[in-house]
Amino acid sequence: MKTTQNNSIYDVIIAGAGPVGLFLASELALAKCSVLVLEKAENPRSPLKQVPFGIRGLNALSVEALYRRDLLKELEVHKRLKNPHLNSKQGARRQGGHFAGIVFHDDDIDTSQWKYRLPSSTDASLISEMQELETVLARRSEALGVVIKRGLAITNFHQTDDEVTVQSGDQSFKGKWLVGCDGSRSVVRKLGGFEFAGTEPEFTGYSTQVDIADPEKLSTGRTVTPTGMYLQSQPGYVIIQDFDGGAFHHSKKPITMERVQEVLRRISNTDVTITALHIATTWTDRARQATTYRHGRVLLAGDAAHIHAPLGGQGLNLGLGDAMNLGWKLAAIIQQHSPESLLDSYYIERYPLGAQVLDWSRAQVAIMKPGPTARALNSIIRDLINTRDGATYFAGRVWGVLTRYNLGGNHPLVGHSVPNFEFDDGSTIGDLMHDGQGILLDFDSNASLKTLASEYGDQMKYVSSAAKEQLGLSAVLIRPDGFVAWASDQHPDLAEAKQAATIWFTTHQKLG
Ligand SMILES: Cc1cc2nc3c(=O)[nH]c(=O)nc-3n(C[C@H](O)[C@H](O)[C@H](O)COP(=O)(O)OP(=O)(O)OC[C@H]3O[C@@H](n4cnc5c(N)ncnc54)[C@H](O)[C@@H]3O)c2cc1C
Repeated sequence: MKTTQNNSIYDVIIAGAGPVGLFLASELALAKCSVLVLEKAENPRSPLKQVPFGIRGLNALSVEALYRRDLLKELEVHKRLKNPHLNSKQGARRQGGHFAGIVFHDDDIDTSQWKYRLPSSTDASLISEMQELETVLARRSEALGVVIKRGLAITNFHQTDDEVTVQSGDQSFKGKWLVGCDGSRSVVRKLGGFEFAGTEPEFTGYSTQVDIADPEKLSTGRTVTPTGMYLQSQPGYVIIQDFDGGAFHHSKKPITMERVQEVLRRISNTDVTITALHIATTWTDRARQATTYRHGRVLLAGDAAHIHAPLGGQGLNLGLGDAMNLGWKLAAIIQQHSPESLLDSYYIERYPLGAQVLDWSRAQVAIMKPGPTARALNSIIRDLINTRDGATYFAGRVWGVLTRYNLGGNHPLVGHSVPNFEFDDGSTIGDLMHDGQGILLDFDSNASLKTLASEYGDQMKYVSSAAKEQLGLSAVLIRPDGFVAWASDQHPDLAEAKQAATIWFTTHQKLG
């Protein structure tokens, strides 16, 4: 086969124009890197990405990330969505989320336990639609100069010390780096020889759109039964969890109307009748994670790096977090602002969070499994979640507000996402992050901090302003991804501030 060689050398080639690939692309382009995205599917639209199957819950960290890049305002679908799980009937208690189908309520959550989370212009969770999210991210990426080529699946690649040559059928492309954001069956992960370690599934999940002759036989919302779980989000849109060890999904048998009816009757313990099957897809709770996120010039992010059951909706959030964490670091290396060792922190910070999410989904599966052991555990969790501390803990995990990177440092805010400080003029710290630069925020106009920031040129801007609520802080150093690298309550210790700045930023002189 004759190969067509494309001559441009991109800074980064990204496999996959899913939400993670597109968010990463826009982060890199924001930092002036040249980016090519190769996407297997010709058509970005799919009924599985649209309401109701395409509904995804965004947690606080994702909402903040999109807000910080001025993308949140472009997401509109959530405004017209009435999610039965979160928007209860009038007068009923508002649901905050769930663990294995066990709901926690907003009015049980004690937000005063989250000292550094300000009630602000960013929500703790938001319903979104995959289709819209991808459209918004693709539009932003292309506006920043990213080239997106659709209908081109990556089929092979090889890397040298300096570059990666990527093959898509009879075409080849060159990049300095390749990032696999090509989803759960990632070709980049497989060809790159990444180990994908974890556990096998307990169930097959079905997402279906069907016509039902007697829909009143099914409950609406999520119903956990002694044999599994079904969820009817709106009439005819049914998700089922069948504890068959993932056998049906792996059998690759066609998903027929008869099959869906048989499973739904068994799980719902009704004689419900399905008269037509329009859409059907299956998935499992297989939980696996790449044991490293980097081999040389090849990296993984999103579902390519970790897969697990979608229970409680964490996968997209985890992937967007990968993109926000990786983008500025890879860009800093490409722009020669930072040494390659900065990339080590991508794995060090993101791998443990991925492992936690896998365990969170395993724990949910364990207590949803039919049988007396799971039933006993389930009732204990139910008791706990109905306490104030219990609801606060579960909300903290599901909404991501307890997330903290281990960045060292003495202050309890270090490693957390920065609170969304609101300044006297009504602007917020999130508004100042649209350009992706680091920020040295100084509430006390300290001349030595101003001098320190000036040493980092356009990598770090100095902001001196009072905020409406300063949480007892005097100064905060914020990385481009919005995480706190250093913070001080008192008169700032300049040596400490310098030390933190040196880890995440490099002064004017480019590295040789
Ligand atoms: C039923 C269900 C409900 C869910 N609910 C939630 C939720 O509420 N909240 C949440 O956070 N997460 C949820 N998730 C998980 C979430 O959808 C995924 O984690 C997220 O889509 C991962 O994004 P990604 O960009 O990594 O991968 P994907 O969205 O899978 O995108 C990968 C892209 O790569 C492309 N591709 C594949 N192979 C190649 C190749 N060889 N070359 C080039 N391109 C390629 C694909 O076509 C695709 O466009 C849910 C998942 C399911 C199944």
